[in-house]
Amino acid sequence: MRWWYEAIVRGMGGYACDPTSGKSCKFNAEAYNKEYRRLLEANESKELASKHALEVGLKEVCPACRLFGCTGWKRRFKLETFVDANQIESFNLATLDKKKSFNNWWLSSIFEKSIKSDHSNMTFGKFNLVITEFTNSTSLIISSQIHSLLSIMSTIGAIGAKNQYGYGIFDFKNKKNIIDSLKEIKLFLDDFDKIPEASGTNFYSLDQFWCYEFSLAEDNKTVLRFKKANPVGKNSKSSQYIPVSFDIRYKLPGTELGLRNNFLKKYGKQKTRQIFGTIKKDEKTSSHIFVSHIFKKNNNPGYFLKIWGFTDEDIGNFIESTTKDMFSLSSHEVIRKDIELKAFLDGVKDDL
Ligand SMILES: [Zn+2]
Repeated sequence: MRWWYEAIVRGMGGYACDPTSGKSCKFNAEAYNKEYRRLLEANESKELASKHALEVGLKEVCPACRLFGCTGWKRRFKLETFVDANQIESFNLATLDKKKSFNNWWLSSIFEKSIKSDHSNMTFGKFNLVITEFTNSTSLIISSQIHSLLSIMSTIGAIGAKNQYGYGIFDFKNKKNIIDSLKEIKLFLDDFDKIPEASGTNFYSLDQFWCYEFSLAEDNKTVLRFKKANPVGKNSKSSQYIPVSFDIRYKLPGTELGLRNNFLKKYGKQKTRQIFGTIKKDEKTSSHIFVSHIFKKNNNPGYFLKIWGFTDEDIGNFIESTTKDMFSLSSHEVIRKDIELKAFLDGVKDDL
């Protein structure tokens, strides 16, 4: 969630630190104490003194840290998930490759622990996410930020870990539309002074973002192939999804298709590693392309596939057309999900 919030803040031209970089924000306790004492001496009430002094302590804390916490500053909310025991599946993935062929071998190695463990569960189905806002602190409305954030993530992305392996697609009741959500976050950002951006950041930002959703018919030839994919881990009990993200993202067994495979032919090795990520030691980067599993939506016929990326527009176009080829889709079976978002962010930039 923090990761997405950072990308949104940056997309709006704001600064969000990278908590993994060592250059993350710190609450300035010294400045806070000094201001608090000064206000008390000026006969301010304790409550108001504390409120104003907090803003002084937070002066150099980025919006993401304000919400999610940093050194000296606690997270503003509590997050709990409640999962029904019958909504749990054993760990499973699938690929068209047989055991020991590349995709199967690779997934088995990456997820070896999960496959071997008897307690490696994943949540699939309905679950409750309860967010409790800690009162006190500043007068900002935290729960509406989180509501907006989850609405955006649900529309154009996913939640939780390993999104690049297809996990984390979700939807929820009372989801807000993307424009209202973006407006709400923009209001929050407008509430305090902007922090000047550290130089040369190359972080994920909604500035450079695209998202496509593909509709796949039940009798789509590639889908029919996937229905017979080999399980990696235990067999799924659910018919609501086919966990074949890796085959789509990497190389589709038995064909020359597959996103990474086709990308490599057009863009070469180095660019491919940059965009799709690599675990090679000296150039380790995470993926900029995210591919969901194939999934069903309530009461909708057929399946859906969502792909999004943090790259230039032309790479997005390439991924779209490669995916269409893989499933032999026509244009009306593809929806671009980031059009409103893009228009909104352009508007924000014109404002600056
Ligand atoms: Zn920060």
